[in-house]
Amino acid sequence: MRLSQMLFVTLREDPAEAEIPSHKLLLRAGYMRRIASGVYAYLPLLLRVLNKISNIVREEMNATGAQECLLPQMQPAELWRESGRWDTYTKAEGIMFSLVDRRQQEMGLGPTHEEVITAIARDMVRSYRQLPLHLYQIQTKFRDEIRPRFGLMRGREFIMKDGYSFHADEGSLRATYQEMYTAYSNILRRCGLEFRAVDADSGAIGGSGSTEFMVLAEAGEDEVLYTEDGTYAANAEKAVSLPTEAVPSTFTQFEKLDTPNTPTIDSLAKFLNCSPTQIVKNVLYQAVFDSGQTVLVLVSLRGDQDVNDVKLTNELTKLAADYGGTTVLTLGVPDEEAQRQWAAKPLPLGYMAPDLGDDYIKGGKDIAPQFLRLIDATATDLKNFVTGSNEVGYHTVGGNWGQQFTRPKQVVDVRQAAAGDRARHDPSQTLQTARGIEIGHIFQLGTKYSEKLGATYTSESGTEQPLVMGCYGVGVSRLAQAAVEQSHDKHGIVWPVAIAPYQVIVVIPNMGDDHQVEAAKAIYKALLAVGVDALLDDRDERAGVKFKDADLIGIPYRIVTGRALGDGKVEVVERATGIVQEVALTDVVALVKGWIDEELLTNR
Ligand code: ATP
Ligand code: MG
Repeated sequence: MRLSQMLFVTLREDPAEAEIPSHKLLLRAGYMRRIASGVYAYLPLLLRVLNKISNIVREEMNATGAQECLLPQMQPAELWRESGRWDTYTKAEGIMFSLVDRRQQEMGLGPTHEEVITAIARDMVRSYRQLPLHLYQIQTKFRDEIRPRFGLMRGREFIMKDGYSFHADEGSLRATYQEMYTAYSNILRRCGLEFRAVDADSGAIGGSGSTEFMVLAEAGEDEVLYTEDGTYAANAEKAVSLPTEAVPSTFTQFEKLDTPNTPTIDSLAKFLNCSPTQIVKNVLYQAVFDSGQTVLVLVSLRGDQDVNDVKLTNELTKLAADYGGTTVLTLGVPDEEAQRQWAAKPLPLGYMAPDLGDDYIKGGKDIAPQFLRLIDATATDLKNFVTGSNEVGYHTVGGNWGQQFTRPKQVVDVRQAAAGDRARHDPSQTLQTARGIEIGHIFQLGTKYSEKLGATYTSESGTEQPLVMGCYGVGVSRLAQAAVEQSHDKHGIVWPVAIAPYQVIVVIPNMGDDHQVEAAKAIYKALLAVGVDALLDDRDERAGVKFKDADLIGIPYRIVTGRALGDGKVEVVERATGIVQEVALTDVVALVKGWIDEELLTNR
């Protein structure tokens, strides 16, 4: 491609709309333009990057035997009602764009495709002989994200590769899941990214697991906890660890103490001169289930620990049936306004005990009349502990389960793991923290969707069984920007060779010099002839402007037909290192082609 004929507009200044380097650079270098919040035009340079990523994804997916298809973006509400997700997705979470057509039919724009693909399997898969089966697509997804930001990182319209596999049993699902683990690792390595595969939360669906592929970068929205030995890495939402040992309590007698102004663990520990590990703290949550029931949840855990909302949501989902529901719609700490709706009297906030009376809840149609009391495993073995008294300004000390307090029957693991905790697999290792950008997620779904939609097959023994499913997603457009976030310098983008829009840019410093122009055109043509993606900067611009632009757009190799041409040489500059070499005109094409091939091969 000749730059003089391209829509090529670079900006000197950082655009005000962008906060992180990758977002600024993609806008400045003319890769994209914002059209609406979370909605971007992918310009020619970016499309080439997206296509290169998609092709790597395709090659790796096809190598596993998965087949590409293309599913509709417009999806009927009916299918989503069958899975039970229509109201959650369009109203409660509100992530799905929906519309009503001229026939008064409700439709949604696909945020994901479990419903559609399961309907196809229901229709077409009859027998175990057709299994396993794996279909994938690369397509634009729509999600009305609460906080679209950072450009392509969290868009409302973005490109995803999503794949869905169908199996006769869990064993077959696990085999495909392992293949996907390898395929995803290959994709990220080939794209030239530094990444980590981490244990992820698989939500209420449970199943035997899910893995996220995180590209490590400061701007990442996720926290990854890992050990130096490389054995353990998990999303902080999901991570497990050993809490520090509790310090034995110094209180030997149960009594109620006057503890003014101690509503927080810190203030209380200071006042009583005790360790936070001797305190049982009681945290109040308000959960709303999809049945419409509001439930007040009292979680007791060790004072030095925090509740992990994702883990708590998962525990509550397991109990949803007790409240006539299947999922948790919302979970949060009730504010004053929320408390007014159900509290019979002011709560002793900051001074609550595990036995906070149910009479704090006034009746109501959709409000469970009793607290749901949960205890985290960190608090079950504490002895002579400190806790609230249900009276503002007072705490009790020397309390014990089974004596002054009834221990909640439901023991759960809802504590937040944190950097510095000891690892479960080896307590001599402590958890380290890093920021990550979630690029891919592989997931063992099980029979959740096939049961809801009635997608069954006839097994070898002749019985009708629900299909066992897996799903696998890669954020293609997010990956493109994550690559820039991981690989840039003060001059601009530094694309990994495998996904660079062009591999080489041939720059003519002086368009008025025929010798320079002719030499550059010849090199450009020769590069194309050997299959190198080459760009020719034949614009009527000063050499300095051209060099700056080449650095900004991040092309891996730059060939300059400058002064050395007199000696039959050209200058070759490697973008990543800045290393400059003078190379004989006759050798340059083979040399650069060799470097590119080698680079692409080493990541294979
Ligand atoms: P996140 O937690 O970041 O919202 P998710 O769990 O909703 O991601 P999935 O539904 O598993 O994501 O989608 C698969 C992949 O699609 C993600 O791993 C991510 O790379 C990408 N993705 C998800 N949401 C967006 C978005 N709003 N913009 C760009 N890419 C996205
Ligand atoms: Mg999301």
